[in-house]
Amino acid sequence: MSTIDLRSMTTEELADHLQQQGYPSFRAKQIRQWLDQGVTDFRCMTNLPLSMRETLAAAYTVPGCTIVRKLVSSIDGTVKYLYGLDDGETVESVLMQYKHGWSQCISTQVGCRMGCTFCATGMGGLVRNLSSAEMLSQIETAQRDSGVRVSSVVLMGMGEPLDNYDEVIRFLRLLMEDGGVHIGMRHISLSTCGVVPGILRLMEEKIPLTLSISLHAPNDEIRSRTMPVNRRWPIDQLLDACRRYVAATGRRISFEYAMIDGVNDSDACAAELADRLRGMLCHVNLIPVNSVSGKTQKRSDRRRIERFMEILKKESINVTVRRTLGSDINASCGQLRRQADQQENRKEALP
Ligand code: SAH
Ligand code: SF4
Repeated sequence: MSTIDLRSMTTEELADHLQQQGYPSFRAKQIRQWLDQGVTDFRCMTNLPLSMRETLAAAYTVPGCTIVRKLVSSIDGTVKYLYGLDDGETVESVLMQYKHGWSQCISTQVGCRMGCTFCATGMGGLVRNLSSAEMLSQIETAQRDSGVRVSSVVLMGMGEPLDNYDEVIRFLRLLMEDGGVHIGMRHISLSTCGVVPGILRLMEEKIPLTLSISLHAPNDEIRSRTMPVNRRWPIDQLLDACRRYVAATGRRISFEYAMIDGVNDSDACAAELADRLRGMLCHVNLIPVNSVSGKTQKRSDRRRIERFMEILKKESINVTVRRTLGSDINASCGQLRRQADQQENRKEALP
């Protein structure tokens, strides 16, 4: 018998749903409180009538994740989790400590179909979307395991959030609800490779999160080579959507730029990038690209990155180099799952 995902409902939706099943709506709040405390077994929800607990246990589910592997950086305490989902799939999530508190990077899909050439996640294509409950559970599980309170969330793990639009928005709305996790929208960042219709839809949602765009190239020629999404929505269209987003929300956009040796890191690239972004309320984040097994990309050296940054600064573009956290545990997403898959394949290949 198929079961209904109860975790993906807001308290209001749950109240309506329970009412339709003949239960009083105040039960929704009680259930929500249990879930917020991490109690997911309906049989343990002792303030519900016994018969209701049994019905819920038979017909409903609370999707969650379990910790399959956990790596802790000995350099800066960054924690990387490989989570197992109810159907046996795995996703990654990273917990990082900053001055202002703990920030968690979560996944929105198992795999990704965008195929960026430098990315480990994209290598296996898209397996499936995550539900909002599975996104929420990544935070709850990390908080329970580590004992810290997550104060900001970035949707920058595995997957393209705007390719799983409805569940991501539902997740954001669940995050804003009072109770367990409760994180304000100003402490949430969403990163996209440039799904233009998604950006324009997001603009209308009136959710004041921080939008990050993975730009990684100053022109269509380089960008289409490294990011196939650019063939569908070229740079001009993307930056036009960004300008509209800034005008509608008043929020600064963050552009991610992974520096790949000999690909996108020349002086000419810096000058072209400055030209493109001039006048926009934005910030550029330079990231030394991470190596990925099976790919030949090399990160630009320090001097090149500094020079690139100087050119942008001279053109009055806001720019920083991203601090690398968890470098000893390969904290960028997609790698751990791939390693686990490869080990799994090796196991299967044994007689
Ligand atoms: N799909 C979304 C969010 C997940 S990827 C997006 O692309 O924005 C999160 C970030 O990691 C993106 O900025 C992506 O471009 C970057 N990234 C992917 N592979 C990387 C690598 N090998 N080195 C550095 N950054 C990488
Ligand atoms: Fe997908 Fe983002 Fe990786 Fe591109 S960088 S393949 S969009 S996860």
